[in-house]
Amino acid sequence: MANFLDLEVDQRFTDSLPADYLTVNMPRQVLEACFSWVETKVPSNPSLVHRSSEFMKELKLEVEDEEAFLKVVSGAVPYPGAKAYAMCYGGHQFGHWAGQLGDGRAINIAELNIGSSNWKFQLKGAGPTPYSRRADGLAVLRSSIREYLCSEAMHHLGVPTTRALSLVTTGDLVPRDIMYSGDVQDEPGAIVCRVSPSFVRFGGFEIFTSRQDVENLTKLTNHVIKEHYPHLGEPSKETYVKFFAEVVDRTKKMIVHWQRVGFVHGVMNTDNMSILGLTIDYGPYGWLEDYNPGWTPNTTDAQHKRYRFGSQASIALWNLVQLANALFPLIEEAKPLEDILENYKKEYLAEYFEMMCAKIGLAERSNLDAQLIDELKELLESSSIDMTIFFRNLSQFEEPNTFLDVVREASYLEDEKFDNFVDSWSSWLHDYAVRLGQEKRSREERIKAMNAVNPKYVLRNYMAQLAIDAAEHEDYSLVDELYQLLLKPYDEQPEMEKWFAKRPDWALNKVGCSMLSCSS
Ligand code: AMP
Ligand code: MG
Repeated sequence: MANFLDLEVDQRFTDSLPADYLTVNMPRQVLEACFSWVETKVPSNPSLVHRSSEFMKELKLEVEDEEAFLKVVSGAVPYPGAKAYAMCYGGHQFGHWAGQLGDGRAINIAELNIGSSNWKFQLKGAGPTPYSRRADGLAVLRSSIREYLCSEAMHHLGVPTTRALSLVTTGDLVPRDIMYSGDVQDEPGAIVCRVSPSFVRFGGFEIFTSRQDVENLTKLTNHVIKEHYPHLGEPSKETYVKFFAEVVDRTKKMIVHWQRVGFVHGVMNTDNMSILGLTIDYGPYGWLEDYNPGWTPNTTDAQHKRYRFGSQASIALWNLVQLANALFPLIEEAKPLEDILENYKKEYLAEYFEMMCAKIGLAERSNLDAQLIDELKELLESSSIDMTIFFRNLSQFEEPNTFLDVVREASYLEDEKFDNFVDSWSSWLHDYAVRLGQEKRSREERIKAMNAVNPKYVLRNYMAQLAIDAAEHEDYSLVDELYQLLLKPYDEQPEMEKWFAKRPDWALNKVGCSMLSCSS
């Protein structure tokens, strides 16, 4: 066990990459630099809401001095021996090049060696930086609870993600217009300490290419390869191509996981795409309740639904095309990049198919199963079935008639409306029974395998909102309850059964549940 505040500072990013030569902390274009030195804002009355004891355990860390810990993770004092900085990146937002974005409200407080790994610790909401544009650099409690709980929940679901170490309130009020309707309210300020081996995004490469700054593009790429893809070898055109292929592969795997658990990121802009294929930047994300591939929780995207559940794979590809364009000056040949992107489509479909077969419990796969899966998806959508409940209960399938009642229970439709789908469901369940009969695995083996890919508990939109409502009255018990629940999302946890339930009616059109804006 090591004390969190006694770790070895090893600022690999800032030691090997160019810094902004200015240190004035005001919004501006930052040229020829990967980051700017900044200081965190001192909060007026910081208080710890939660700490991820599980993540601390994984890192073999302990906290010897609570006061000192709080000061560091709230930005009141720097991490001993480290120098804080904000990163420069650009990005395509909603399909359009947005120019420089950067860490507008995220400040890296330290790069620390823990065991044989180097982790970046970053405070989200710790004050303005040169990248804050017209905004304040702060974050509010509701969005911080959402990021804190979800990033840890995703990790325990087996989805690649950045992590969260702690959640604090700052004691400062932060004005926010939650639905961009002109109704500005003061909300409690908060800070999440996020942790990742790297916070570099696709947009980090794009910004240099957009400025025709190949020298710094090369530096950043070489650094990322050396630190995070060392097995690819020394920098060369071939290495850059291999690097791109691996980022494509990791991104694809992340999206397959999102589709498996029903996660909708909500803002898949290229500044929110991690170069390590991690889920990053939890804003207006959501979880599918009724199975609707057209759904996005992000009201800012309500018109075009660019980032809806069913489009995440093609949007990831679009984003990867932007990354390919950004890396092109290093490779100067389109063909190898195009081949990799072409492969993505095939491989994604194959991996998605594997994943769906696993969800319905098929160990041996045949091409005929694709039809069974397509029909299932159509039925889930048309008869408005709760995704998590359906797949979790499917492992208990014995025969079509009894299971039809389970399906009915999982539907958001009224009984009479569901009746319209009874024949189609009976027919699908019959085909499914026949297909299961061809499996060689025992029923027990199948149940075990299905329960390992179909979570029983996810952070349903209304659950996070209940925790937020209580937290705004300084009751953090639900934050802790959900944190504990989501440590073991695949376990039955009978005492927590109340969270294995359909979305309550009150949550259907409630702000924070089905509707979330980027205001955070
Ligand atoms: P997002 O879509 O939330 O990842 O944010 C897009 C960009 O806006 C990023 O560069 C953020 O750092 C920046 N940003 C978002 N909210 C704020 C804020 N309150 N203050 C400063 N910058 C922000
Ligand atoms: Mg972002």
